Amino acid sequence: MTDHGNAGLIDVSDPLGALRCGRETAWLRPMVSDASGVTSSIPASEIDEAAHRLRRFAPVLAHLFADQRWDGQICSPLLDWPEKPGWMVKGDHDLPVTGSIKARGGVHALLHIIEQIAAAEGLAIDELASPFARTRLSCHRVIVASTGNLGFSIGIVARTFGLEAEIHMSLDAKSWKKDRLRALGARVVEHRCDYSETLSRARLAANFNKVWLIDDEHCRDLLTGYAAASDEVASQLVQRGVAVDADHPLIVYLPCGVGGAPGGITHGLKRRFGRNVITVFVEPVASPCMLVALASGRGAAATVYDYGCSNVTLADGLAVPQASQLVLDAVGGAIDAVVAVSDARMVQWVGRAWHDGRIRLEPSAASALAAFAPLQQALARQSGWPDLGQATHLFWATGGSKLPDEEFQALLEAAN
Ligand SMILES: *Cc1c(COP(=O)(O)O)cnc(C)c1O
Repeated sequence: MTDHGNAGLIDVSDPLGALRCGRETAWLRPMVSDASGVTSSIPASEIDEAAHRLRRFAPVLAHLFADQRWDGQICSPLLDWPEKPGWMVKGDHDLPVTGSIKARGGVHALLHIIEQIAAAEGLAIDELASPFARTRLSCHRVIVASTGNLGFSIGIVARTFGLEAEIHMSLDAKSWKKDRLRALGARVVEHRCDYSETLSRARLAANFNKVWLIDDEHCRDLLTGYAAASDEVASQLVQRGVAVDADHPLIVYLPCGVGGAPGGITHGLKRRFGRNVITVFVEPVASPCMLVALASGRGAAATVYDYGCSNVTLADGLAVPQASQLVLDAVGGAIDAVVAVSDARMVQWVGRAWHDGRIRLEPSAASALAAFAPLQQALARQSGWPDLGQATHLFWATGGSKLPDEEFQALLEAAN
């Protein structure tokens, strides 16, 4: 496979035109502004609350998942990329139980629902692992729509608490995730349509008593759960002695589906580091929903189909045709760049991450690394941006450690 990064230059003058031709491209904010770009629609107190909730639940999660030797904390390591000074990887691919970043936002949103059920049923959080609590929880059902990982994560944790779980999967979802959920007693509803339509259908199924919907396009709890990760990474950077200031900016590469995960993290990081952090959202060339939202100025009204894109990609975690309005309202102005990368380049980086660092990534996660070269090209032709020569590059590895061996081997073979 050729390295497209060294081949044809990407077109940044007309990103929407490049997408119509199925080519890699980037949209850069004309100038990185002084303002953080974060609106007050999600107050910092709500993010602190999310962090507290995750801590409150850690003991009961540790109890319920004792067989997996998990302490109940949702934390991942900050890794160095071998032999590339200034390159770091945030290891969410290795998050416990779920093996993806959904353990942050998705599991947080679920825990908030469980907290409300517990209050209504008169249960304390520390008794939620008891057989009695399980019986009470089993009268409630959680519904979620997903391209795979959100449903996988919420389904596993919901079933472990004893809740009914109804997981609506779009066409993109991999069978091993559905099989695993069914084995845990979740109801998996398969839809032969894209993610946006699957979500609309899931909403219809949720209009009943004791049924709780986690709505990826409107759920603040997802966003705040992801945002809580920014405190974790900030303290890891301090521990490592990595400075983030005007002379040493931090460039964060964030794979983007509807935008909740990258949006939440952007929210937290921009609040803390302001213009010294540069946030780069990364999408597949076939599903660039955030890119079309920002480059067209049409926001969440824009779909990738409007710009000739197919929404068919190997990166199932990112196969979303329309961005979240909630995310655009909260942090749309804080997104500094969006890079659209080809599936071929993602697969190539699945291979490199494994060979260079023994890091097991799915294509969605490898997209973060795949965005490096196209971003460099785009920056070289953009004026008005600060000098990023001394920057630290932080690639957010959003998932992959739970990929079955045969799926992973097939990716490695495709990368060769
Ligand atoms: C869900 C997901 C993302 C993106 O999250 P959104 O909230 O949909 O933007 C990125 N990578 C992986 C592996 C995911 O599962």
